[in-house]
Amino acid sequence: MPVKNRFAELLPEITEWRRDLHENPEILFDTFRTSGVVEEKLKAFGCDEVVTGLGRTGVVGVIKGKSTASGKVIGLRADMDALPIHEQTGVDYASKTPGAMHACGHDGHTAMLLGAAKYLAETRNFDGTVVVIFQPAEEGGGGGREMCADGMMDRFGIQEVYGLHNWPGLPVGQFAIRPGPTMAATDEFTIVVKGKGGHGAKPHLAIDPVVAASNVVLALQSIVSRTNDPVEAVVVSVTSFETSSKAYNVIPDSVELRGTIRTLTPENRKMTEEKIKSIPVAVAQAYGAEAQVTYHSNYPPTINSPEQTEFAASVAASVAGSCGEAEMTMGGEDFSYMLEERPGAYIFMGNGDSADVHHPKYNFNDEAIPAGCSWWAGIVEQRMPAA
Ligand SMILES: [Zn+2]
Ligand SMILES: [Zn+2]
Repeated sequence: MPVKNRFAELLPEITEWRRDLHENPEILFDTFRTSGVVEEKLKAFGCDEVVTGLGRTGVVGVIKGKSTASGKVIGLRADMDALPIHEQTGVDYASKTPGAMHACGHDGHTAMLLGAAKYLAETRNFDGTVVVIFQPAEEGGGGGREMCADGMMDRFGIQEVYGLHNWPGLPVGQFAIRPGPTMAATDEFTIVVKGKGGHGAKPHLAIDPVVAASNVVLALQSIVSRTNDPVEAVVVSVTSFETSSKAYNVIPDSVELRGTIRTLTPENRKMTEEKIKSIPVAVAQAYGAEAQVTYHSNYPPTINSPEQTEFAASVAASVAGSCGEAEMTMGGEDFSYMLEERPGAYIFMGNGDSADVHHPKYNFNDEAIPAGCSWWAGIVEQRMPAA
């Protein structure tokens, strides 16, 4: 099964949908127009059920096969949200909303899953049920988490779930995937180091939080270099260092540090959290200061299930001829919440030689649409073959 002919026919229509979404980007949970477009199309395609308002602005469509005797139910998920970036592509369908753009290709993901839904509702050439999932707020809001929290998996009886993301640098029409940890957990921390402010010329009368906080930053680097197993990837980045005074001659009262933690396994995630909570307290104390740590657990690691990964790769190979092995990335992805609830897999699809995602000159490559749609359809038709 190479690219399905039907998707070559549908390409102009799906491209039009994609460019309309591109022109009208919406951020986080505010995907009101986008969700409306998705809902309207799913109804027009003749989905058996269309449900809105899951995870606030998420939309779900249910398509039953010619038979449902297998009892199988597969979830296919796309993300709908854009980013707070000012577009610089110069395309004639560029964002009409200043300061918002589809810089991660979620316009393409949504359009491709709509294309697959149209085809699957037309043909129904499978034995089982497919649930197409359109989620808001992938870029930091946890829309996937919210849809799961609304009971989506149980409500629709989803047994397995599949996701896809375009990948700049990978040739158009090609795919890459890996079993196990694929993308990182993305936790965040804030550390407030409190000293005692004073005159910049009289350090002996003050407790300098700048020196204490500087040592906290350095000590945190020992988590990766000395506590973590060197063959496993962990990132600890302190990304903000802000003192309570901007003056040249004042020792400030306090310093606030912020940063991000990236880990690929639950074990490393726990280890890093413990260290982030304990090291600053001990280091600050050594300088007579105090540290308060606030730890925010964000997206979990995206971990592909072995069996579903092998299957997803075989479908990709049937579309593209072969499927590459993806590299792990320390970026995060909130499809991870769905993979915590159900077995499944997350695949990367080539976007060709484009600017990287989250860049103001990035654009989703419409030439990738037939391959992406064919992969979605293949997942359904090959996992739940018609009798
Ligand atoms: Zn993104
Ligand atoms: Zn994305």
